[in-house]
Amino acid sequence: MLGAGFIGLEAAEALAHRGLQVTVVELAEHVLPPLEPELASLVADELRRLGITVRTQVAATAIEEGPEHDTVVLADDGRIDADLIVLSVGVRPDTAVFEAAGVACEKSAIITDEHGRTNVPGIWAVGDATVSTDAITGLRRPITLAGPANRAGRLVADDILRPAIARPIPQPCGTAIVRAGGLTAALTGANRATLLAQGIAHHTVHLHPTQHASYFPGACPVHLVVHFREDDGLLLGAQAVGTDGVDKRIDVLATALRNRMTVADLIDLDLAYSPPYGNAKDPVTMAGLIGNNVLTGTVRIPARESVAAQAAHPGTAPGRHSRSSTLRRPCIPSG
Ligand SMILES: Cc1cc2nc3c(=O)[nH]c(=O)nc-3n(C[C@H](O)[C@H](O)[C@H](O)COP(=O)(O)OP(=O)(O)OC[C@H]3O[C@@H](n4cnc5c(N)ncnc54)[C@H](O)[C@@H]3O)c2cc1C
Repeated sequence: MLGAGFIGLEAAEALAHRGLQVTVVELAEHVLPPLEPELASLVADELRRLGITVRTQVAATAIEEGPEHDTVVLADDGRIDADLIVLSVGVRPDTAVFEAAGVACEKSAIITDEHGRTNVPGIWAVGDATVSTDAITGLRRPITLAGPANRAGRLVADDILRPAIARPIPQPCGTAIVRAGGLTAALTGANRATLLAQGIAHHTVHLHPTQHASYFPGACPVHLVVHFREDDGLLLGAQAVGTDGVDKRIDVLATALRNRMTVADLIDLDLAYSPPYGNAKDPVTMAGLIGNNVLTGTVRIPARESVAAQAAHPGTAPGRHSRSSTLRRPCIPSG
C-alpha cells in the first residue's frame, strides 16, 4: 500500500482482513499525516496488531516489473516484492478542460464564490475540484471530503433555482473520520503543524477520559487533543483516537468549532449522560475544564522539550508554560 492516508489505511485493513501480507509505505513522518503524531502512533500500533508492516518517512521511488512479482523500490534502497500494489497517494483535480473554457482556477482547482459560481456566467462548481477557504486558518485549498461536496451541491442547486433564498456554502472545518482495526481516528479543524506554520499562537491540551462511566463494563479511553487560541480560547482544532465514543466527541467539537465557541464554552454544553453512554463530566466537558484551567493560568503544562530536558537532568525546574504543550503521554491536570 503506497500512501497511509485515510483510504490507504482502509484498503490495507481490508486486504489484511482477507489474509494478505500487507506493507504500508508512507512518505510522511507517520501514518494518517493530518493526525497529530502522538495519536497517529496509536493507529500505527493497531495496524501492526493487525499484522500490517508499517514503513514511514520513506518514499517509493520506482516500481520494477518482474516475471513472478513486481518490486517497489524505496528511497532508502529498501525493496519490497509485491503481487499487488495499491497507489493511494492522493488526488489532484484535472481542470485543464475547464481552464481552456475560461473558468478561473488556482493551483489546478476551480475558484468559486460563496454560492459556487465560477467567473463564467452560467457555470457553477462544487466538490473536490474546487478551492475552499479553511474556516479556521483562512488557507485556500481543495477539501476532498464527501460531506462538504454533498452539502455544497444542494446549496448550488438552490442558487440556480431560487437565488433569492440560497444560503452561502459554508467554509469547511475538514471534519473527517476513519476506522483502523479496532480503533477510530477523527479530527476537525486545524492540526498543530498548520497552526505553527500559520503562526497562530495556541495552547494544546491532551486528555484520556473514558468514553462512558468508568465503572460501567466496557469503559475505554478516548485519547483527545484540543487546540485553542492563546489569547481568548477560541477553538481551533480537535482530534481523537479510541475504540469507542470518538465519533460522538469529534462531532460535538466540530459543531463547537463551526459556531466559533471557545474552550470554556465546552464546559457549558448540556450533553446527555447515563453510565452506558457518557460521563457526568463528558470528555468534551473535561476538555473545556482542562482548557480553561490552562487559559486562566490555573495550571501550567510543560512543553515536551522541557519534560525531555528534565528527564535528562532530573532536579532542574520545568520550563515556562509553552504555547503548544505537546506531550506524548502527558500527565493530565484534573478538570
Ligand atoms: C475510496 C474513497 C473513499 C472515500 N471515503 C470517504 C469518506 O469515508 N468520507 C468522506 O468524507 N469522503 C470520502 N471520500 C472522498 C469523497 O468521495 C469525495 O470527497 C467526494 O466524492 C467528492 O465529490 P465530487 O462530486 O467532487 O467528486 P466525485 O464524487 O469524484 O465525482 C466526480 C465525477 O466527475 C466525473 N468527471 C471527472 N472529470 C470529468 C470530466 N472532464 N467530464 C465529465 N465528468 C468528469 C468523475 O468520473 C466522477 O464521477 C472517499 C474517496 C475515495 C476515492
